[in-house]
Amino acid sequence: MLSSFPLSAAANPSDLRELLRTTFGFPAFRANQEEVCVAAVAGRDLLLVMPTGAGKSLCYQLPALARGGTALVISPLIALMEDQASKLIALGLKVARIHSGMDRAASRQACADYLNGDLQFFFIAPERLRVPGFAEMLAKRSLSLIAIDEAHCISQWGHDFRPDYRMLGERLPELRRGNGEGQAAPVLALTATATPTVQADIVAQLGMPAPAKFIHGFRRDNLAIEVVEVPVPMRAAVICKFLKDASRRPAIVYAQSRKQAELLAEELSHVVRASAYHAGLDSAIRESVQRSFQQSEIDVVVATIAFGMGIDKADIRTVIHAGLPATVEGYYQEIGRAGRDGQASRTILMHSYADRRTHDFLLGRDYPPVADLDRVYRLLREEPRELDELRYESKLSDEAFEKAIEKLHIHGGARVDFNGNATVGGPGWKKTYGVQADYRREQLELVVRYVEGHGCRMSALVRHFGDVEDAAQPCGVCDACDPAGAVLCLFRRATPVERTQAQDVIESLRTATYKTIKQLMSDLSWAERVGRDDFEKLLAAMQRAGLLASEEAVFEKDGRVIPYRKISLTGAGLETRATTAIALLLSDGIAEEFAPASSSGSRKRKTGSNAGTSSGKTSGGGTAAPVELSGVSVALAAKLKEWRTSEAKRLRVPPFIVCHDRALNAVAAARPVNLRQLLDVDGIGPAKAEKFGEAILEICRSNP
Ligand code: ADP
Ligand code: MG
Repeated sequence: MLSSFPLSAAANPSDLRELLRTTFGFPAFRANQEEVCVAAVAGRDLLLVMPTGAGKSLCYQLPALARGGTALVISPLIALMEDQASKLIALGLKVARIHSGMDRAASRQACADYLNGDLQFFFIAPERLRVPGFAEMLAKRSLSLIAIDEAHCISQWGHDFRPDYRMLGERLPELRRGNGEGQAAPVLALTATATPTVQADIVAQLGMPAPAKFIHGFRRDNLAIEVVEVPVPMRAAVICKFLKDASRRPAIVYAQSRKQAELLAEELSHVVRASAYHAGLDSAIRESVQRSFQQSEIDVVVATIAFGMGIDKADIRTVIHAGLPATVEGYYQEIGRAGRDGQASRTILMHSYADRRTHDFLLGRDYPPVADLDRVYRLLREEPRELDELRYESKLSDEAFEKAIEKLHIHGGARVDFNGNATVGGPGWKKTYGVQADYRREQLELVVRYVEGHGCRMSALVRHFGDVEDAAQPCGVCDACDPAGAVLCLFRRATPVERTQAQDVIESLRTATYKTIKQLMSDLSWAERVGRDDFEKLLAAMQRAGLLASEEAVFEKDGRVIPYRKISLTGAGLETRATTAIALLLSDGIAEEFAPASSSGSRKRKTGSNAGTSSGKTSGGGTAAPVELSGVSVALAAKLKEWRTSEAKRLRVPPFIVCHDRALNAVAAARPVNLRQLLDVDGIGPAKAEKFGEAILEICRSNP
């Protein structure tokens, strides 16, 4: 049995500090750690949202020791588990873990140690709870606490949804009760990335009745954020000019597609040492790019979102988004890689209306209309029907049909067996599919609102993650707080006419609590002539000057949520009289030194074009039209489909999980002879290539 070093449950802060020093060797708590630990030691359930690297692990580890007994830690990744376990072992603590990478004897020993009361920390993967008898075994003892790391995995709104996490909700009541001795174990949910929606979902899924919530640390003081409208064709040239200056490097440029990443890297390599990094490159190349960047042998990496997970480079001076990101969370994570050393760093987001269209297109492709799904659903019966037959009857295009059946399968509307036969599932799919599709759209909407916002950028991000209190403080260095300090965004002084117009806006708002932009425009006789875009620019300038406030709001119409903005006067605005001289800075595109020689969006080089995006972040990737196959290719495609059928049977999964028709057709058309070429085929990512690459290449080789 363990020597008893539990402290009293009423944590005494000085005891906790003592434990921090003696056991962990840290001289002091980091920001917010202490209050979290105190709550946990007292046995409170809690939700802890702090950015990566903030020190969340300590917030369950220290309370676990203070409470005494065994802490159960649920972690989704072997690597994370190993990393934390080995650190604790190095501190001389008693730790066991069970995951799929271990042999049976070791797992059995871990369970025996647990039952003997010899463990302080027991790490498991969530799927372990599916093993019959395992949860019951755990419940034979009382746990000190239950920590759920990467808790966003439980929410299907989180970007890493793991169905196995769902089981936790069911199992927790039994686990926290344990053998009934003593207090129920508190549940600690930890994550670095959860919007208020995801936070609420975590709490609901885990059945935490009234958790303490700690949402902290999202502000980054040394990041100056700029958001700037740059037409797609101009972006490559602007980025090259910007990164020519050595003080702006090392840098990461996030591209929207593999193709854009390669083209940009190529363009940049005339100016700096640059490489592309995306999911279509094989792992040896990716590792070497990552290593060279880490060791400063290259200055710039142009990446799709696949880059950065393992990056631990402290001196990144610039992060550029060469297009509109898909979610605010992703964007925040990516800009967060700049300036880890605490030195001033700059982040630039380039966008234009064309980005919005690209995203809309991708969304439409990934989340087809419910009507498409319904059309397929209505053809399903209790008796198995062949997919090919259904495809024909549905009259949908191959691609639309495949998306529809895949979505039905995921949402339980269809059951597809490994022979490629489908039977009808439950009617519940409509609801979950609809909710998910809407959620994706909302996420895009939030990004658009972020880029169109005129308030402090950092505050907007901090508020996005739910830290309302901290959001009240402007950062002072972003393009909204300090227009004159912006490097890429160009601002100009308002003309006398614009200053008069600003006065008109103030008068129009003086007696109103707020007006919408539409109301303002119809109240002001000149607004229509100026046009919505320039009118908004004027409002933005007034907001930057501290005269106006704008608040996001929504109203519901026909069951749809429609966002709008409430514009009102600030205190300074109210004090402004017709005689007050007001200084306004209007946004005026990008600074001349960065504009390409033949500027004004001329389509000189189409390098940055994202018209044909094959994005690494969307399933399959590739927006190409359906592939036209020649006679021989048709034969090869048929062979590949035969192979897929047998593979699906072997793996007991629906055929489209092995490979989509679209991807197989593309393989047949491209006839790759090696892995590199195979990875170039739309719809074949590294995961597929790793699993099936050899088999597919063999079929291509033997069917000339
Ligand atoms: P997170 O899970 O929030 O991403 P970790 O828990 O992995 O972060 O902690 C990041 C690093 O900070 C670890 O190396 C950890 O040892 C260190 N750390 C945590 N708390 C403290 C502290 N109070 N003093 C010094 N270092 C700390
Ligand atoms: Mg962590």
